[in-house]
Amino acid sequence: MSNIEQTLSIIKPDAIERNLENQIKEIFKNKGFKIIKEKKIQIEKSEAEKFYKVHETKPFYNDLCEYLSSGPILAMVLEKENAVLKNRELMGATNPEDASEGTIRKKYGISIDKNSVHGSDSVENAKIEIEFFFKD
Ligand code: UDP
Ligand code: MG
Repeated sequence: MSNIEQTLSIIKPDAIERNLENQIKEIFKNKGFKIIKEKKIQIEKSEAEKFYKVHETKPFYNDLCEYLSSGPILAMVLEKENAVLKNRELMGATNPEDASEGTIRKKYGISIDKNSVHGSDSVENAKIEIEFFFKD
């Protein structure tokens, strides 16, 4: 049975800054993801705080929100069979040092904080995160 899902992907400021946007989009397309929507924006720190609210008690929360709002990002809705899990696999581990060969974070991630991409971690959160960036 087919299980087409949508997930939210973000190309983070470190990757946009290094002009990796097109390379990363090609990786998604080559792996069979359809880019249904995309939006290049810079968000306010207060919006980053909302987006990452689940992490508000973590020691890295403030730096994380500063960082996500520090420059332009590309938010995308990706669609594919089992898109949420498939995107997480393609991104690789949160810390690029732990990411497997062939993953985006292994290839482009600089550090645990500058790890180039975000991806929703569940179907439920994907809906919330897509709504966050593409409510209109
Ligand atoms: N992060 C960080 N330090 C940490 C853990 C996470 O700076 O010790 C950042 C990192 O950029 C990560 C984001 O916080 O992508 C969200 O963390 P999460 O655990 O949700 O990782 P992800 O889902 O992005 O793999
Ligand atoms: Mg996460």
